[in-house]
Amino acid sequence: MDGSNLFKSTDIAIVGAGIIGLACAHYLVEEGYSVTIIDQGKIGAACSYGNCGYICPSHLLPLTEPGMVWTGIKSLFNPKSAFRIKPQLRPSFYFWLLQFARRCNHGDMIKAAKSLNQILEFSRQEYSNLFSNYPIDAQWKETGLLYVFQTKRGLNEFRHTDRLLTDEFNHSAQFLTTEDLIEFDSSYKKDLAGAFLYKDDASVKPDAMTASWTQLLQQKGVKFIEHCRLDSINKSNGRVRLLKTSLGSINAEQFVFATGAWSRGLSKELEISLPVEPAKGYSVTIPRPEHCPSVPVLFPEHRVGLTPFDNHLRLGSMMEFSGFNTKIPKHRVKQLFNASKPYLNVSIQESYDEPWTGWRPMTWDSLPIIGRTSKLDNVLLATGHNMLGMTLAPATGKLIAQLIQGKETSIDVKPYRPTRF
Ligand SMILES: Cc1cc2nc3c(=O)[nH]c(=O)nc-3n(C[C@H](O)[C@H](O)[C@H](O)COP(=O)(O)OP(=O)(O)OC[C@H]3O[C@@H](n4cnc5c(N)ncnc54)[C@H](O)[C@@H]3O)c2cc1C
Repeated sequence: MDGSNLFKSTDIAIVGAGIIGLACAHYLVEEGYSVTIIDQGKIGAACSYGNCGYICPSHLLPLTEPGMVWTGIKSLFNPKSAFRIKPQLRPSFYFWLLQFARRCNHGDMIKAAKSLNQILEFSRQEYSNLFSNYPIDAQWKETGLLYVFQTKRGLNEFRHTDRLLTDEFNHSAQFLTTEDLIEFDSSYKKDLAGAFLYKDDASVKPDAMTASWTQLLQQKGVKFIEHCRLDSINKSNGRVRLLKTSLGSINAEQFVFATGAWSRGLSKELEISLPVEPAKGYSVTIPRPEHCPSVPVLFPEHRVGLTPFDNHLRLGSMMEFSGFNTKIPKHRVKQLFNASKPYLNVSIQESYDEPWTGWRPMTWDSLPIIGRTSKLDNVLLATGHNMLGMTLAPATGKLIAQLIQGKETSIDVKPYRPTRF
């Protein structure tokens, strides 16, 4: 196939078939564009596969919160830390960390939170529209997200966050005392401090979501090419002319790069700084026990999440800045099981059959990168979704479609502009 065109013509070529690439394809095909989407691996098999599946407008506070620098420094000496930085040889990594650290203060946190809040709310609304209008079978559940605390100290610390979310962002939770929590769900222990229920949050099963959405998009005419790696880009007169891939070349009018954690590698070709760092997370999925939490839950003191699906239960957590390393140490998976023990009144059968790891695409300001680049007329970026790519996918897809059409966008896209770095 070398040198030949994979497809004679397509309006839009999308690189990356994770949840973000799929969302872009959806809103573009709905507007009548022909769309081809390529991926170096299988569709939806990277970070969009085994994540926790929370659709969580409650997660509007960025990772750059006061105290994160100290957490990062401590993690250098603690291999069990859920948030871990491993020393690396790349100077660009230390520059990234420096930029991240500079933003770990109250003022920058609130500024980023405002920008996150508007896109989170928009995306949550788009999810409702999506599931009302399309037959996507993703185990969509609007049951909220429960934040459960083991200790009074942890609970009291979170009260400040909850107040901030309520007062500044109008995201209020239902507070559950120890007794309320047991009444709400008997799978929790009787000695926990309490919980907050964010009722607007929802969940999907990520792999079911990408599989079902892909099927729908195929029916609508989107062309998918798996195991097709973008190798280089032909440009002239300020435009991308051709993508050269491992399977041949692709022509299109416009190009969308939804390459997740791999995006930094495109900086040179796209003539733009793309400081996206991979942050590794883990999950493990087991058959759903007869008795287990009925609503997705977070244990913030242990930084572990647990999502019940129709037939499965998933535990997920950790954020390791350790480059693209694929190892899944058994002790990390065990940590997931151990972290849930202080909270659950039910025994969970430990199984190591379905461990998973994925790389979140992290930006140093916690905001996604959505929009046009400045040097190439027909290039758009849809990447850098940090810990919120599942949640932000529909908003991103819709914004990309509006930008391509030259329409006014539903929300202000300035905070996410690719040229900000
Ligand atoms: C443990 C864990 C739990 C999480 N939980 C949640 C959650 O509950 N809610 C939430 O909203 N988010 C969550 N996230 C974050 C979320 O998973 C990511 O933000 C999201 O999956 C990113 O989607 P993406 O499409 O940008 O990236 P990906 O899914 O990684 O897709 C990018 C694709 O681009 C392809 N690609 C890259 N370079 C090339 C190239 N040169 N040629 C061809 N193809 C290429 C890759 O193969 C890949 O398939 C979690 C993440 C982790 C790790």
